Amino acid sequence: LCIIGGLIGLITFFLINIYFKHQLSLHSLILKGIQRKEFIPYYQPIVNVKNNKMYGCEVLVRWWFNKKELISPDNFIPYAENSGLIIYITDILLEKTLAELSSLNWIESLGIISINLVPEQLEDKQHMRKTVDLIIKSSISPKQIAFEITERMSFTDLDKAAIVIDYLKAQGINVKLDDAGTGYGSFSYIQHLKLQSLKIDKMFVDTIGTYDHKLSVLDSIIAFGNKSGMEMIAEGVETKEQSDYLLNNGVYLQQGYYFSEPLIFEQFREYFKREQEN
Ligand code: C2E
Ligand code: CA
Ligand code: CA
Ligand code: CA
Repeated sequence: LCIIGGLIGLITFFLINIYFKHQLSLHSLILKGIQRKEFIPYYQPIVNVKNNKMYGCEVLVRWWFNKKELISPDNFIPYAENSGLIIYITDILLEKTLAELSSLNWIESLGIISINLVPEQLEDKQHMRKTVDLIIKSSISPKQIAFEITERMSFTDLDKAAIVIDYLKAQGINVKLDDAGTGYGSFSYIQHLKLQSLKIDKMFVDTIGTYDHKLSVLDSIIAFGNKSGMEMIAEGVETKEQSDYLLNNGVYLQQGYYFSEPLIFEQFREYFKREQEN
């Protein structure tokens, strides 16, 4: 028994060791990426399917690692969010986004530019003030900026967050609940933070047309949104069937591969140009 216990202890020790080494190296790699500003924005259009016009876009981060490899968020965002490094990544992303989009003509017709934040970032009023200052200094109006706050992570201080949201609203910046229904308390967040828009996660959109029981979750979210007059954006729309179902149920703001994948700035600029010509 002693031997087995010792063996398990030893194995656990090695596993923990490997785990920490991996985390440590990811930490230092991200730090290096921050120093070199290797994080770049991709833009995914959000379409109003009622009139087929662009509602705006979501900014999605990519890591241009060592200038030769494009790394998608799933590989580093969870760690960056939990370690707090996300703050620096968002700063770089926002700076690049504002610079790139400012170079567009008719920037007003681009609509709403949506940026992802974690609750922790929203609770930091001082930092949010700096962020707003950065936006005001650019040629993009704060009225064209929205923040998506994921409910995958919990708030530590809802009252603090509510104050910051009021401040942002006063600046004309909209705040949306992201990944609604997937995490902590959608309903309590909406109520406490007086949010007026939500994003329906791909997970629920995926259930359209399948026998999956989760369809009822989708319908519940939509019913709630319609009843309380919330703005709803569905993400991960891949098929005409999904798009039609959502539209028929009042969700006409849609985002997904059915319309466009996330695009690098040069491609997004072309998309936007074509959009204006139509
Ligand atoms: P999200 O906020 O839910 O963003 C939507 C994700 O769904 C994006 O993945 C997008 O590329 C993907 N997507 C959109 N339409 C479709 C579709 O039709 N089919 C499929 N299969 N996927 C679709 P992405 O870009 O890989 O980002 C993953 C997640 O990483 C995001 O999920 C978000 O939670 C996080 N993330 C991305 N950028 C940032 C950021 O700047 N800050 C923070 N905190 N998180 C970010
Ligand atoms: Ca999002
Ligand atoms: Ca999200
Ligand atoms: Ca999502």
